[in-house]
Amino acid sequence: MSAGEVAFRDILRARRAIAGRVRRTPLVPSPSLSDAAGAPVHLKLEHQQITGSFKLRGATNAVLALGAEERARGVVGASTGNHGRGLAYAAKELGVRCIICMSSLVPRNKIDGIRALGAEVRIVGDSQDDAQVEVDRMVAEEGMVLVPPFDQPDIIAGQGTLGREIVEDLPEVETVVVPLSGGGLIAGVALAVKTANPATRVVGVTMDRGASRYESRLAGKPVPVEELASLADALGGGIGLDNRYTFAMVRDLVDDLVLVSEARIAAAVRHAYREEKQVIEGSGAVGIAALQAGLVEDPGTTVVVVSGCNIDMALHQRLIDGEDVDLGSKVETRT
Ligand SMILES: *Cc1c(COP(=O)(O)O)cnc(C)c1O
Repeated sequence: MSAGEVAFRDILRARRAIAGRVRRTPLVPSPSLSDAAGAPVHLKLEHQQITGSFKLRGATNAVLALGAEERARGVVGASTGNHGRGLAYAAKELGVRCIICMSSLVPRNKIDGIRALGAEVRIVGDSQDDAQVEVDRMVAEEGMVLVPPFDQPDIIAGQGTLGREIVEDLPEVETVVVPLSGGGLIAGVALAVKTANPATRVVGVTMDRGASRYESRLAGKPVPVEELASLADALGGGIGLDNRYTFAMVRDLVDDLVLVSEARIAAAVRHAYREEKQVIEGSGAVGIAALQAGLVEDPGTTVVVVSGCNIDMALHQRLIDGEDVDLGSKVETRT
């Protein structure tokens, strides 16, 4: 099976390439979610991945795919979140220079986190758009190689290895529930699980605040959306108005898209901690939230992908305490 320029064999190739460099994360049954859903529910504990999210899979595959000459030039990115962490770690492991550009507004702990993973940090301007301009300059003038967060075949194939693990561990899976932003994760996972069984349903979940992917789907093309602060901060940002791969793959392979509220995300983080003994971030919790809200119709044997754990621990504590955390106002408008 193939979708656009990514084929299932690319996922198998990625699997061989990254084996031993990323964790094969556990798939575990969730009795409490199974009771609530009236169907067997399993959790793919990908937040236990090295660097705290699946982004390491795609980043490792993308750096490995570079030729010797490209590796010598080094890689660059503008993500301050999970992609930046994954790329920093992957590059260091492979002995490739990595620079992550950030705006001066990025909090100290995030800068330190990326540095601790071995990347150089360059502070430029006071918005992520300024950081992106510097990335583009380094690519154009210094010949560094841009590794984007989702819209690139090696990234999509790398994330797809997670889907392959799901069908190997639970061949009878009927529904896979996946957090969705740029769509690299769900595109790869959908390609992997539908190759094994085309009847498997793939449901994408994102937050109801500034859900660009959802609005793009409704509009039939990528659209810019206003960005709002959310507990699911890793799901922010648009899918790119010049999107080449993930928009079409999501359109063709994803069966359903659902939106969850901030209150539901908070409840899901709490549930994961109390019932599953897992610390997860808001973005990693949206699948649990969707299931708990009854938004996944007739789920059957279900796998929920828990995609990340990188949450500020003070915020986590407030959520566990049941505090009403409203991140409130608009943060910026992006495309
Ligand atoms: C990046 C990210 C996602 C969304 O992945 P996309 O490939 O952009 O759809 C979901 N959860 C976490 C924790 C992430 O870091």
